[in-house]
Amino acid sequence: MDLTISEKNSIFFKQIWKILGITGIPINDLVYEISYKLNLPYRPATVIKKIQEALTQGILKEKDKILFLNQDDMNSILDEQHNMEKKVSNMQVPWNRFEESYDTWMNSTERKTEIRDKKSLKINSVIKKVMNEDAIEKGKEIPISQYHPILIEKGIEGIIHNKNMYNFKIDLQNKIILHNCSEFIHHLSEKYLCKHFFRIFMYLKVKDMDLLKDILISLLEEKNRWQFKKN
Ligand SMILES: [Zn+2]
Repeated sequence: MDLTISEKNSIFFKQIWKILGITGIPINDLVYEISYKLNLPYRPATVIKKIQEALTQGILKEKDKILFLNQDDMNSILDEQHNMEKKVSNMQVPWNRFEESYDTWMNSTERKTEIRDKKSLKINSVIKKVMNEDAIEKGKEIPISQYHPILIEKGIEGIIHNKNMYNFKIDLQNKIILHNCSEFIHHLSEKYLCKHFFRIFMYLKVKDMDLLKDILISLLEEKNRWQFKKN
């Protein structure tokens, strides 16, 4: 199945539903699947916009915070599925595979971080110099499953989804940090790293230690060159 950026929402979401083999899906999971798992050329913000459009167009429906495909398209997928099942009787139809196929990096990140913590006390002490203790403690309480990060050229960006949806971006090349939680925005002039950044640093620690070191050293030694902006 081939999806391009110009694909109409009606075709796009029908294909997504077919690929994922789902009936309904929470919005944040759908954003995560499209932006990061299926490797489609959509940033989370674009996906959210696309979902909102599809909701207005009646292509998607929302019930109890779960997104469903409109009944006509769903029926046609089920028909196709049914016909295929008839043709290939032994074929296992991966209808509910979404739950099982969830990326496991989050769990392994936690585990690896614990192991590496012992070896990398230096990094932790640098983080303590860059973030305040209160933010670190609060940051530890945020479930890692709420983070959907992606590494970019000399940086990291992504979304955090709990009751709200937040964006974040650390761009080392241009020395810009973008984020949009109220605490971050409130303290923009102080260049304050809110609780949300702790897990982002922890993720980098596992995924790209060199990048993390470069970011932390730069924040520590030349914070005046960094811009903190509302995303
Ligand atoms: Zn924040």
